[in-house]
Parts: sequence; C-alpha cells; structure tokens
Amino acid sequence: MTSLWLDDQRERIPTDAFEPDARYDAVVAGAGLTGLTTALLLARAGLSVAVLEARFVGAAATGNTTAKLSLLQGSVLSGIRSRGSDRVLKAYVEGNLEGQQWMLRYLGEHGVAVERRDAFTYAGTEDGARSIEKEYEACLAAGLDVERVSELELPFRVHGAIRLREQAQFDPMDVLRALAADLRERGGVIVEGVRVKDVDTGEPSRVITSVGDVHAGTVVLATGVPVLDRGLYFAKLKANRSYAQAYRMPDAARIPQGMYLSVDAPTRSLRTASHDGEQLLLVGGNDHDVGRAADTQALVDDLEHWTHRHFPGAERTHAWAAQDYQSLNMVPFVGWMPRTGKHVKIATGYNKWGMTNAVAAALSITAEVLDGSIPWAQTLHHRITTPKDLAQGAVAGAEVARDAATGWISAERHPLPTTPPAEGEGVVGSAGMKPVAVSTVDGVTCRVSAVCTHLGGIVTWNSAERSWDCPLHGSRFAADGTVLEGPAVDDLRLVDEPELPGDEHVPVADLP
Ligand SMILES: Cc1cc2nc3c(=O)[nH]c(=O)nc-3n(C[C@H](O)[C@H](O)[C@H](O)COP(=O)(O)OP(=O)(O)OC[C@H]3O[C@@H](n4cnc5c(N)ncnc54)[C@H](O)[C@@H]3O)c2cc1C
Repeated sequence: MTSLWLDDQRERIPTDAFEPDARYDAVVAGAGLTGLTTALLLARAGLSVAVLEARFVGAAATGNTTAKLSLLQGSVLSGIRSRGSDRVLKAYVEGNLEGQQWMLRYLGEHGVAVERRDAFTYAGTEDGARSIEKEYEACLAAGLDVERVSELELPFRVHGAIRLREQAQFDPMDVLRALAADLRERGGVIVEGVRVKDVDTGEPSRVITSVGDVHAGTVVLATGVPVLDRGLYFAKLKANRSYAQAYRMPDAARIPQGMYLSVDAPTRSLRTASHDGEQLLLVGGNDHDVGRAADTQALVDDLEHWTHRHFPGAERTHAWAAQDYQSLNMVPFVGWMPRTGKHVKIATGYNKWGMTNAVAAALSITAEVLDGSIPWAQTLHHRITTPKDLAQGAVAGAEVARDAATGWISAERHPLPTTPPAEGEGVVGSAGMKPVAVSTVDGVTCRVSAVCTHLGGIVTWNSAERSWDCPLHGSRFAADGTVLEGPAVDDLRLVDEPELPGDEHVPVADLP
C-alpha cells in the first residue's frame, strides 16, 4: 500500500553517510515533518545538526498523510475546550496559526506548490449536528472566522456544516524535499536506515543507534510516539490508524473542491490532489485503534464501496494507511522529556493535525533550545491533568491491560496450525509455551515471535497491510518481524525452528 505522495520517485531525497562517533550540537531522530522542520530551524540558528531516520524520509505519518493545512480540524477544538479552558484552546489555535503561517511563507519562498482551499467540517448524521454546533462555538471562542453553511457540493446528505475559508493543501513529500535540501545547504546531514535505540544523557549525550553511537548536545525525538520510555508517553497516547485512497474520476469537474471532514463515525475525509497533471479525488476514513480492528482489509473495501456509491465510475489509483497519536486532552506533548536532564526533547500527539502542529512544535522546541520561550507554547506545554483526563487514562489503561491478557490467553489456547497460512494471511498460536506469529506474504512463510518487543503485547495480523500490529501501544512490524513504527525499537525475533511440517524457515536476508 504505497501512498500517492510516496509513489512519486522522480526526485529521491538523498541520504548521507553515517559517521560513527561524530559529535553534533543536535541530533534529531525521525525525518518526518517534525524532524526536518526542527532540524532546519536549529541549523538556521547555527547549530550542527544530524537527522537520523530509521527507514526513509517520510516513511511513517508524513508520507502517508492527507496533508490539509487547516485550522478547522474536525471536532478537535470543541474537544480541547471540553477538556481544558478557553485559555488552552486559544493557545492551541495561536500555535497552529503560527505553524500554518510559517509553512505558507516557507512554501511560497521555496516555490513549493500549495493550493488554497476552503475547509469544511460536516455532520453525516443528525446526532453529528450537535457536534457541529459545539465546534462552531469553539471556533468562535478561539477567534476563528468560521461560518455555518447549508449548501455543499457533496453528492450525499449532510446534517449541518461549518466552513473556514482560505485554508490550504499540498503534497507532503514536496514539503519534505524542500526542507531536506534547505537543511543540507546549511550543513545538516540526513542519514536514512539508522534507528535510534537509546540515549545515554549527559554532556554530550550518547545516542545509541542500530549502526553505532553519535554524540549530541540536544536530542530531539521526532519519531511519532517517543521511542524512549522515560515519561511513559506511550501510555498517555492512543495510536489511531486510518485509511486513504486516491481516485481518478470519469469527469474531474465532479470532484468536490473543498477540504471536507465529517465529525461523526465512520469518519470521511475528502480533498483533491494534483498528480501528474490530473486532478484526483482523495478519500480517507475508517479509523481504529492500532491492532484492534478484526479485519483491516474489510475497512479498506468499505471505504472503496462508499466511494463508488457516491462517486460512480471512480477508479482507484492508490490506497494506503497511516497512524497518528492522540493525547488524553487532545493537546500535543512538546517539550523536555522527563528524567533526561533537559537533554532530550519530544513532540507527539498531533491527533491527525500534524501539518500545523509539527511546525508549531518545531518553533517551540527551537525557541527552548535557544533559551527563549513562546507564550502560547508555555500555556500549552505546562499542562495540568484534569479529573476527566485521569478518568480517560484509566479507561485507556484498562483497555491495554485487557488486550495484554486476552492476547496471551488466546495465543496459549490456540496451537499453531499444521499448514502454512494462505497467501496474505497471518495467525498467532502457541508453539511449545511460546506465542508465535506465522504469515504468508508473496509466497514466503515467516515465523516470528508474537510478543511485541516494546512491552510484551501479543501482535495481531493486519490483513490490509500484511503486518503484525500491537494493540497495546501501536508498534507495527513487517511480516518478517522488522519494526515499522511505534515505540518499539527492536524487531520481532525470528523463530528459528520450523514448526510447520513441510515448510522451511526463510532467513530475513532472503525475503523480497
Ligand atoms: C491518515 C492520516 C491522515 C492525516 N491527515 C492530516 C491532515 O490532513 N492534516 C494534518 O495536519 N495532519 C494530518 N495527519 C497527521 C500528520 O500526518 C502527522 O501528525 C504528521 O505527519 C506527524 O509528523 P511527524 O514528523 O511528527 O511524524 P512522522 O511523519 O511519523 O515521522 C516520524 C519519523 O520517525 C522515524 N522513526 C521512528 N522511530 C525511529 C527511531 N527509533 N529512530 C529514527 N527514526 C525513527 C519514522 O520512520 C518516521 O519517518 C494525518 C495523519 C494520518 C495518520
């Protein structure tokens, strides 16, 4: 499942060589929008900067986003308002506005294509209409010039909608390409295929990676969820995965031109996308907690059926999926990581609104590294945990505990099947006393430990993406056990002994 943005191989972003034991003023882990923007801002301030990326630039959320640069964000503002104060709400909007304006200025200065579009939040059900009203009021309280609308260009019924004019959309890989080139011109390096595994904090900190150590005055974890467990952020965030698809329409004139998002389930997100000289329709939705959907392929199929129902003749060109992280009070976590002696910074919890929030985080982190401060960031990042947050945290914790227990019990009760799974399928069962995950992908059967290397959850099969996903904190692994994303930093262990008769173990190196 390759996204529309990552499918474009015309201009590959180059990678630099890893220099063992090198010393940098700042090491940034992760080359998504947060990592590259932060790295660029630090390099602009004169710091020597290295970005270490576990996979490739844009590999996780940023290369698989829907890339609406908008202050109208579904029901996020009313969500923040109901969990916090108007002061927090205003600070959130101020930070996002600053992020948006920075990005628009940057794209303009660097000749990156950006399309200005009106953003709409709509209700697909009568119940959703109440959420629209709340969002409208929250937008007004935050000072946004939002308006109610009754007539929309959509080919299905809606039960109320609001509009914020003149927001924007772009191709996120265009943005990463521009940031990467700019960073390199300022002496920064970007090294792909290097996974940060730990940080031994000090003056300087030792950054322990999959290929050796480097040293840094400041370390920025721009890895989605932080990959160090200090601060227990993995337990304060929900990992939420959703699906996106691009379509060629028989009549491009029928593609809605606004950026749309429903407030009610199942979520639907729409926008246009310019690709190779033609305009495509982009459809997103069907989100769920990572590792907790019974049949992810059914969710992909459902999105396609919905699209065909409302946009007859639409022909799918791309389908992909991605995940982002939501904090309990819907405000991102940005700042110094606890118990790192102010040597490690984190930025996470953008709740699927990272195009503005990542830039806001980069601005705030850079200010703090340079001993400055931004008032809206001070308000947002010195947060108080409310009773409502605590209650939600307790529910989330209980869900994790339940998944942890049921995963192990289920694995123990089901012995591994005697034949390899069918193509595209995966199954967890016990081999001796060990939970083992077996899958067949592209004709290759792989056996790996079913125990997530982060905190020991039992992984579940993601049929749409052919991956092993952990329901506890959102770590994901390829069929051969290679870690893809989430808080885990180690691969699932290969199970060496063939457990299935007539089937041989395939070494990772031989996998396609
Ligand atoms: C389906 C979907 C649609 C979305 N649509 C929108 C939208 O329309 N508008 C909007 O504003 N936001 C949207 N978002 C949210 C937005 O895409 C994300 O918030 C944003 O891209 C996050 O950027 P990031 O750089 O923080 O993380 P990422 O882009 O995930 O980057 C993290 C990087 O860190 C790397 N990494 C991980 N672990 C390590 C390690 N140990 N060492 C080194 N590198 C590591 C990863 O490989 C990855 O490249 C959407 C999100 C999803 C999931």
